[in-house]
Amino acid sequence: MPQKKGGIMVILSSPSGAGKTTLVKLLAKKNNFYISVSHTTRKPRLNEADGKDYFFVTDEEFKRLIKNQEFLEYAKVFDNYYGTSRTPVIQNLEKNQNVIFDIDWQGADQIKNKKMDYKLITFFILPPSKKVLFERLSNRDMKDKLIAEERMKQFDRDVLHWINYDYIVINDNLEDCFLKIQKLIDAEVNNGSRDYDKDFVKNHVEKLIS
Ligand code: ADP
Ligand code: 5GP
Repeated sequence: MPQKKGGIMVILSSPSGAGKTTLVKLLAKKNNFYISVSHTTRKPRLNEADGKDYFFVTDEEFKRLIKNQEFLEYAKVFDNYYGTSRTPVIQNLEKNQNVIFDIDWQGADQIKNKKMDYKLITFFILPPSKKVLFERLSNRDMKDKLIAEERMKQFDRDVLHWINYDYIVINDNLEDCFLKIQKLIDAEVNNGSRDYDKDFVKNHVEKLIS
């Protein structure tokens, strides 16, 4: 296989509320990853800051960015547009800086299909149960119960995309989940042995969608 160049790309996707944003922040902090900050047409949550969590833009601005081909990938998710800017990602990868992405399955597919010259590792995060997922969504989106309900409805459809990821990890205890991802990244980079049970994951998905 040809040698990959530059930094590595790590994608975390999940059904909404499973914890990928929390995990991305933790992984970035502890492993010095550059977090790709996306553009979105969604309105900010109470604790979100422009330029840090997202670049919050209007529909018009988003369309302008698409037209100028500024996105590495973009997709419509829950009635809003989300996209990854190409330039900061490539600049960081070229500097040997590892980059981490919190994007949905559509974005992960687009990046995978680009077959870029950088090593790519993809993770799909699952909640321990639907009950826990609903609790997490309700806590996060306290202002608007409808959002939590809407995102729960989407769960059964989103979860089916687990099959296209390199690794599926269950986010029950946050620290355990973080350590598991960290070890898998380390094993991928250093060609070490992977502590990963595919059958366990399959059974867990079946339980979640039954
Ligand atoms: P996502 O980005 O997948 O939509 P978030 O990272 O926003 O999910 O997490 C959803 C909510 O669940 C947040 O309020 C977060 O603090 C909480 N959360 C994330 N992981 C855990 C965990 N392992 N245990 C308990 N709460 C968690
Ligand atoms: P949220 O509104 O909860 O922040 O994110 C909703 C969904 O959009 C999540 O699945 C998140 O991973 C995804 N998302 C965030 N940024 C991007 C992006 O740049 N591209 C794509 N394709 N999805 C994104």
